[in-house]
Amino acid sequence: RIPLLAVDGGGTKCLAVLVDRSRQEVGTGRSGSCNYQGIGEEAASRELMQAILQSLEDALSRNGLTLLLGHEGKEPVEWEVDCAVFGLAGLDTEHDREVITKIVHRVLQQLNIRVRHLIIENDGFAALLGATGGKPGILVIAGTGSIAFGVNEAQETARAGGWGHRVGDEGSGYWIGKKAIIAVLKAEDGRGEATVLKELLLPFIGLARVDELFNWTYGPLYSVDKVGELSVLVSQAADQGDPVALQILQVAGEELFHAARAVIESLQMKNKPFQMILQGGVLQNDDRVRKIVVEHINRYASQVVIENAQNDPIYGVIAKGLAYLDSQSGQ
Ligand code: BGC
Repeated sequence: RIPLLAVDGGGTKCLAVLVDRSRQEVGTGRSGSCNYQGIGEEAASRELMQAILQSLEDALSRNGLTLLLGHEGKEPVEWEVDCAVFGLAGLDTEHDREVITKIVHRVLQQLNIRVRHLIIENDGFAALLGATGGKPGILVIAGTGSIAFGVNEAQETARAGGWGHRVGDEGSGYWIGKKAIIAVLKAEDGRGEATVLKELLLPFIGLARVDELFNWTYGPLYSVDKVGELSVLVSQAADQGDPVALQILQVAGEELFHAARAVIESLQMKNKPFQMILQGGVLQNDDRVRKIVVEHINRYASQVVIENAQNDPIYGVIAKGLAYLDSQSGQ
């Protein structure tokens, strides 16, 4: 029996953590992206399952045990979890909620996990509410995808951006990677400035020529998270002073600020105190993008405090679960 299972499923990675009564992490599992909008329902189920299974195996192996999932005619181990919190990218509409709830139930059933209290939310939403503990705050995530979420004093919430890789996610890793590919294609046919991005992108993907890069984007090896990974190369090009890369990152930072500003406005928090949390690979790994967001926000909102500690969404998801368990034990 396990008190808490916390899962953060972003567009880059899926992390599952088991927490015991003394609030210690007792098992951790990790897999790839589980955003069904990017990889499909079946692959999303598989990744979720893998991360949770690994966390169970980890918890057992720390106690010198191995997991038997119904092998050799034995009854599979049945797990009982008091509270499970899933913060999942791709949960943007009521339709998504239906699809994702089905996926989660299927995965829990296959792993023989019975959950007493199940919370399923968008990754940003879960991370924000967990991280702020009910205090007013704004969270901006820029990993493979991006989104801004906020909660004000009256506990009203709002979101902006986060409409996925096809039509949104401005400022995210995917968006930056896609801009980089476009910049290389434009430079190649003389519509854009020359850029070192070509020298960085081609070998990274294992290609020799720009026309191959074009074919790659429509081929079977193309994936949302692979394009997201290209954002690291844009940071490297910017380190070398490449103006094209610098411009892409500048606009990325501005876009993320616009999303945050929209949330702040809709929750009327501009002149109120609140904390701001910046998460995800782009905001953690690229100081420039982070700085642009922070500078804009500091100019815009008079009483914002930038929180540097809460840098991984999983801690917010865990906090959300612990808050629920606390509310139960107090009753
Ligand atoms: C997804 C959102 C998610 C965001 C951050 C976007 O691609 O559509 O649901 O919150 O990425 O992970």
